[in-house]
Amino acid sequence: MSNLETRPDEVALCPPAAEDAERRVEVLGARDVPLGGPRAMTVRRTLPQRGRSLIGAWCFADHYGPDDVAATGGMDVAPHPHTGLQTASWLFEGEIEHRDSNGVVGPVRPGELNLMTGGHGICHSEVSTPETATLHGVQLWIALPDAARDTARDFAHYVPPATPVPGGSVRTFLGTLAGATSPVPTHSPLVGAEVLVEPAARVRLDLRPDFEHGVLVDAGPVGVRPEGGSAGTVERAALGYLAVGTSAVELAAPTDAPARVLVLGGTPFGEEIVMWWNFVARSHEEIVAFRADWEAGTDRFGAVTGYPGDRLPAPALPHARIRPRR
Ligand code: MN
Repeated sequence: MSNLETRPDEVALCPPAAEDAERRVEVLGARDVPLGGPRAMTVRRTLPQRGRSLIGAWCFADHYGPDDVAATGGMDVAPHPHTGLQTASWLFEGEIEHRDSNGVVGPVRPGELNLMTGGHGICHSEVSTPETATLHGVQLWIALPDAARDTARDFAHYVPPATPVPGGSVRTFLGTLAGATSPVPTHSPLVGAEVLVEPAARVRLDLRPDFEHGVLVDAGPVGVRPEGGSAGTVERAALGYLAVGTSAVELAAPTDAPARVLVLGGTPFGEEIVMWWNFVARSHEEIVAFRADWEAGTDRFGAVTGYPGDRLPAPALPHARIRPRR
């Protein structure tokens, strides 16, 4: 997905929360972002936001739907560029056709990880298929560490099995959770998984204490209790943040309905990044250069074939220098 804000934020990052946050869940609310167009889809964005830009290398989280495609028009994101990041698509309902400048054309389906690497530069389009009546999912970005951020284009697809756990099940699509390990390599220590919790049940998950984690709630509200701490309630579309040092978490579903969350985590990224539009960079000057390359149509990004329409133009740069976040 593209960040289609006409005036993309430049967000100055704040330092991580103080030590006393270790045994509590910090609730990060979502903000609505219209994706543009006459019948715009609206997404609910929890990362980045003022106060927290990254959870591990996860640097962008949009949650959308369930949307009635007959009313919203579904997803139709024209070819647009990325640098310095990976995009992870995870659907709950519907189907999207992905096309990229690496020549990959493929469907994005519920329960399947589609991980696109746009290190040095890539462009892609995303269009919900004509058969899709309901669209519901998340779009996540992973910042690439400095050593990997100029890497070649790549695309990985993985269908994780559902691992039964007491009270629910876990699909681990990146890293290791609930004893299941994804075979998809990552460029920094990461975890990503979908967790289902049966009505009135609790699921306990061991966590890596050197990771920070986010619990992105798709169906809730969910009681989130870090080991040794107190529970907090995370509403649908919000993100519960668990600081480094949390060794386990208990997720509690409502009494009358199942809960569904994504658990996202990683070691604190530790590098300052500059994010603007669809680019992750390290400086304002790099952003200016990436934008110029896209506008000039250089081979940094290549071209998408088969998309019925024009590619997205870059928005105007902000007047001020784009400041780093961490
Ligand atoms: Mn995109």
